[in-house]
Amino acid sequence: MEKYTTRIDAHLPELSQISSIIQKGGELLRVETITQSPTRDHLYPVYSIALGSEAADKPAIAFVGGIHGIERIGTQVVLSFLETLIQRAHWDSTLVDALEQVKLVFLPLMNPVGMLRNWRSNGNGVDLMRNAPIDAEDNVPWLVGGHRLSPMLPWYRGPEGAPMEKESSALIATIKKELFPSPFSLVVDCHSGFGFQDRIWFPYAYSKTERMPHMAEIYQLREMFFSTYPHQNYLFEPQSRHYTTHGDLWDYMYKEALSEGKTFLPLTLEMGSWMWVKKNPMQIRNALGMFHPMRPHRVRRVLRHHQLLMEFMVRATRSYAFWTQSMHAQENRLLADALWYE
Ligand SMILES: [Zn+2]
Repeated sequence: MEKYTTRIDAHLPELSQISSIIQKGGELLRVETITQSPTRDHLYPVYSIALGSEAADKPAIAFVGGIHGIERIGTQVVLSFLETLIQRAHWDSTLVDALEQVKLVFLPLMNPVGMLRNWRSNGNGVDLMRNAPIDAEDNVPWLVGGHRLSPMLPWYRGPEGAPMEKESSALIATIKKELFPSPFSLVVDCHSGFGFQDRIWFPYAYSKTERMPHMAEIYQLREMFFSTYPHQNYLFEPQSRHYTTHGDLWDYMYKEALSEGKTFLPLTLEMGSWMWVKKNPMQIRNALGMFHPMRPHRVRRVLRHHQLLMEFMVRATRSYAFWTQSMHAQENRLLADALWYE
């Protein structure tokens, strides 16, 4: 297999950026290549970058990006936050103290071949977010909900009965290894491409009616975020409020965590890319335009904007014992029902 070389490509600046961040982070970071995604001639590494506590009894949070190759901004948002943390670790003793109490895991680019080609899917034409072995309860929207017709069409789930794609399996294995042992863990998986507003989606994607058992915790997080930062406008909602899908990786992992009795809250940040198009309609002519802010000042604003959310999620994870014990679970569930399911 001599022709295969691990490759950092000029067409994939995000991979070069990851290499330079790994260098900058030095001993602060625990870096692992969790899989390699192949093209015909090359292999592209998929990295897991961890920092903070390694103790199994501490809470853990993961930031994920680039599951859909065309949504470059997700990878950039995750990397921008990691760079900030690395810089702060040089001078901010509150961060150094926090890192003794919480584990942070970064999976900034899960689908490097998709990003190289400006594809949503991976190199095999499979949409990783439709690839888990879980079926939606009711009819899903045609194509978008996931299908097995052909890898030439977007939202392809992969062949019936086939093992999961390398990238999906590596993501699941890493989340299970790094997050599942913790008593409390949370994920922020960064995407773009839906709607005019930034949304925080939580499970389920496979059912319109089923409520996740940790609805009280989700509602509490939302309350804490809105009351602490009243001047922002994220929308928190179950993903199924918009459409149901087959094969959602977070639905699958959430169910696995439940069977192990863990509190594991996988959230998806769905950045509202239509507003970038509205402000700059010409960008629709570019293949990336529907998914990525094109103008540099807008990219910078997006990278800045989500730091607050990510910082909040780290603090909430670190402090989980404090707020999960003091919240009113029963009342939260009733409020959540009224807000999201009636
Ligand atoms: Zn996406």
